[in-house]
Amino acid sequence: MSDGSLLALSLAEARDGLVGKSFSARELALAYNDAIARAEPLNAYITPTPDRALAMADAADRRLARGEGLPLDGIPIAVKDLYCTKGVLTTAASHILDGFRPPYESTVTEKLWQAGAVMLGKTNLDEFAMGSSNMTSYYGPVENPWRRPGDNRPLVPGGSSGGSAAAVAARAALAATGTDTGGSIRQPASFCGIVGLKPSYGRCSRWGVVAFASSLDHPGPMTRTVRDAAIMLRTMAGHDPKDSTSAPLPVPDFEAALTGDVRGLRVGIPKEYRHDGMRVEIEAAWHDAGQWLREAGAEVVEITLPLTKHALPTYYIIAPAEASSNLARYDGVRFGLRVEADGLEDMYELTRAAGFGAEVRRRVLIGTYVLSAGYYEAYYLKAQRVRALIAREFAEAFKNVDCILTPIAPSAAFGIGEQSDDPVEMYLNDVFTVPASLAGVPAISVPVGLLEGLPIGVQIIGRAFDEETVLRVAGVLESVAQFQCLPSFLAGDRA
Ligand code: GLN
Repeated sequence: MSDGSLLALSLAEARDGLVGKSFSARELALAYNDAIARAEPLNAYITPTPDRALAMADAADRRLARGEGLPLDGIPIAVKDLYCTKGVLTTAASHILDGFRPPYESTVTEKLWQAGAVMLGKTNLDEFAMGSSNMTSYYGPVENPWRRPGDNRPLVPGGSSGGSAAAVAARAALAATGTDTGGSIRQPASFCGIVGLKPSYGRCSRWGVVAFASSLDHPGPMTRTVRDAAIMLRTMAGHDPKDSTSAPLPVPDFEAALTGDVRGLRVGIPKEYRHDGMRVEIEAAWHDAGQWLREAGAEVVEITLPLTKHALPTYYIIAPAEASSNLARYDGVRFGLRVEADGLEDMYELTRAAGFGAEVRRRVLIGTYVLSAGYYEAYYLKAQRVRALIAREFAEAFKNVDCILTPIAPSAAFGIGEQSDDPVEMYLNDVFTVPASLAGVPAISVPVGLLEGLPIGVQIIGRAFDEETVLRVAGVLESVAQFQCLPSFLAGDRA
């Protein structure tokens, strides 16, 4: 098979091709290593690991030859550079982790390697996963492989898992891991025209994933198809005694949930997700998706989630609060960067000032402020209470409906540097994704159409630990939409 046709395969097709010996894991890994080199202008990877990919592929080929293939044997995947990978540079896209080679492997990546997956490298992200555009990375912005028709200006891939999204969309990875704290899997998936699944909180272990906001961090898969997301999640999920918030639940066969049958399912459309400033095309795509589900036999009903408007301010109190605490460990003593000074306190100050970028510093300051004596009750405690109410509101809604259909983001991908410098404007990108984050319920982004030539997705939110319904509904939308992920980078029509 040619490189081009190997790269066009979905994960499910590649899995079948490897088992059927249509090609070897080495051929697949070589094709992807070459694709990564070609995609270098996108800056999607911080650290490609081509030699490791070939060694892992050879081991997979040996197992496959013996007829002892593992579930993901020979499948080349990219890893968001927030997951610790033993002996391989792990940066969180921050200067402060310079030279950090973890002595251990994250649980999720360990599970992937034990299932035979092949590591292609570590992908770029917003620094410490804080952002919605991938522009806060110490290693420079990532470019979206899509461009507006007739317009050569580079666009953001979304964030924070923008490197993973760009790599999967540009066929420089067959699938990738992401993490989603307030939308960082779903929004870049929507901007790049791929599928992004934030599982339930506790479904995938956080152990060995660099912490941003521990009560909100969700590892999850980013893929080109819904089936591929189901396959990835099955391996990534599972109880981990090393993460006290990991759920002690069995892992279903998510792929088996893709029956294509949504007859009788009740789908809620929350009217609070209709925003004044929203592009008409986004509203139209959302409406069409509801119509498709109705035609497939689901019952689509309007619901109300009145607390939705409080989700964004609540998130932007809780996430920085937890971040300020989690990031206290970067002090120049144990990891990465150290700027020498005469006294210990000066060393801390100089190291942290040099090591953290502007957005991370802003979050540490906000977080420290809302946790400080005198403000703790007014901000942090109040936000925690509102969070509990939002979670309860979802639980109430799910007594009446099986899943909820909403938009993912108020816009399609925007230009690199096109947004104003106002951080609040950037935070508004997360308005549709943070409610499910705060509630810890599963949510997926599935591409359904184009807005001025750029992909847009819709979101399916489900009951806690019911990823199966979320995947099933997303699968039906995917098959009606027939969205083809062919960004201009692949069509080669760039000047
Ligand atoms: N954009 C959100 C933020 O900046 C979400 C980031 C994420 O999910 N990691 O916090």
